[in-house]
Amino acid sequence: MASVTPDFDAVVIGAGFSGMYMLKALRDKLGLKVRVIEAGETVGGTWYWNRYPGARCDSDSYIYCYTFDKQLLREWEWSERYPQQPEILRYLEHVAKRHDLKRDIQFNTRVTGGAFDEATNLWTVETDDGAKVTARYLIAAVGSLSDTNIPSFKGMGDFKGQIYHTSRFPKEGVDFTAKRVAVVGTGATAVQAIPEIAQQAKHLTVFQRTANYCVPARNGKVDPELVKARKDDYDGIVERIRDSFFGQEHYFIPRSALDDTPEQREEEFDKRWDAGGFAFWLSNYQDMFFSQEANDFCADYIQRKIRATVKDPEVAEMLIPKGHAYGTKRQPLDTNYYETFNKDNVLLVDAATYGGIEAITKKGIRAGGRDYEVDIIVLATGFDALTGPIKALHLKGRGGAALEAAWSDGPHTYLGISVAGFPNLFTITGPQSPSVLTNMPVAIEQHVEWVTDCIDAMQKAGKTTIEATPEAQDEWGAHVNEVVSMTLLPGANSWYMSANIEGKPRAFLPYLGPEGMGGYRRKCDEVAANGYEGFTLA
Ligand code: NAP
Repeated sequence: MASVTPDFDAVVIGAGFSGMYMLKALRDKLGLKVRVIEAGETVGGTWYWNRYPGARCDSDSYIYCYTFDKQLLREWEWSERYPQQPEILRYLEHVAKRHDLKRDIQFNTRVTGGAFDEATNLWTVETDDGAKVTARYLIAAVGSLSDTNIPSFKGMGDFKGQIYHTSRFPKEGVDFTAKRVAVVGTGATAVQAIPEIAQQAKHLTVFQRTANYCVPARNGKVDPELVKARKDDYDGIVERIRDSFFGQEHYFIPRSALDDTPEQREEEFDKRWDAGGFAFWLSNYQDMFFSQEANDFCADYIQRKIRATVKDPEVAEMLIPKGHAYGTKRQPLDTNYYETFNKDNVLLVDAATYGGIEAITKKGIRAGGRDYEVDIIVLATGFDALTGPIKALHLKGRGGAALEAAWSDGPHTYLGISVAGFPNLFTITGPQSPSVLTNMPVAIEQHVEWVTDCIDAMQKAGKTTIEATPEAQDEWGAHVNEVVSMTLLPGANSWYMSANIEGKPRAFLPYLGPEGMGGYRRKCDEVAANGYEGFTLA
């Protein structure tokens, strides 16, 4: 075996929440030589790219932050319950400065390929500036929702106005004043953007392929007494969210929805509806995700809310989901979303009622045989989730095998952090890990800390490679699918199920463990304690 000194101990791809902390941990805790490669011009990842109107966090700010820096946790003041994108970006810039991260980050550079060399046991990483660097460890911190999905509508190039995707919005913003605007999509992003755009635009047409169940965000200033109480209890909060199911302080009602009377159920639903945020979704009856009958009670409650809010009964019916159970798609949080459809300048075009998008024309959008003339098209059409950003790195493992080929029928991983045949590659919040089903920073910190401990243990034991065994990977994949098959989630055409993009093989992308994030953390710790069970170390 040739012994070659790599350019870096580790290359980290991406400088969002995960890449920033990965750099901090490997460099400042283990003393490694680390290079972060980031396509954007600064740190922030998701919060750098997603600058559409209304972009804000859907998790409560007091837990949507790093917990590794206890002092910062106490010092930082969030202005609202769910801060807007610029405020989160400011926070991440502050973290970068406080921990002197930027000196090891190469900005404005995109990774275009990576190959594992079996002769040297090193990764060679290629970038769009034509450079190549070598590293012992390769860490994909590329985010779960960063590979933009731009549908290939017929005639897209013909449109004479402007087309923007929400995750690639111009930095200087877009002035919608006196414009006729189309928004395509009604996912969590569109639900935030639509009320904002409708306030400015002369006219807004919303193209809906699938209706969503939205619940109120109830954003606002947080009571200073509560802010103080939380700061005083941060150790307790951190312990609770790390051990929780969803990385949030939300807990299921420990009984079936069928055990309660209609009055009791209504009271429980009201409490969660009034609390706002993810309470209705993540702290509801424990059988809501398992029993269609229990789920129907939740769905019925929201349907009544939609009918009570939207004045035109025909529009209300279009806004009520028909084909999937409540909560089986990511919960959008709304601020005046349903109310927006009461405005005279807002029109809803529903694929089921009026037909889907046929083409983009010179002057707008053709759907259901009708032309809708607009000046600006906003595509809120989401992402090639979880697998997309990692496949886009064009990685080659042992024997030159391409990751795209290995995942041609969906993701195959061990613990969602490692891929058989790709030694020393770690995927932070990768497919088949809890990732997007949790409050992201909790999942990110768990992965970063586990990887750091793993590399530390390898160095101490004089090991140079770690890789998942194919058997452990197969078992993990079977487990991921077995657990989710007990729930209602596979019944929805969601991005969780890879169903948002034509031709993407249907597979459940994250990991919904029987004990959630807390249980997954215990499993990863157990694997490490058992000498990295399921991995081969050499
Ligand atoms: P999304 O949930 O995938 O929604 C995309 C929308 O575009 C859906 O309504 C989809 O319809 C529609 N669409 C996609 N392709 C289409 C096509 N070819 N023709 C017509 N319509 C099409 O994407 P997103 O709203 O950007 O949200 C993605 C995720 O990002 C969220 O679920 C959430 O996890 C995250 N997010 C987080 C925050 C936050 O916390 N601050 C905010 C926004 C988003 P179908 O439903 O039929 O596929």
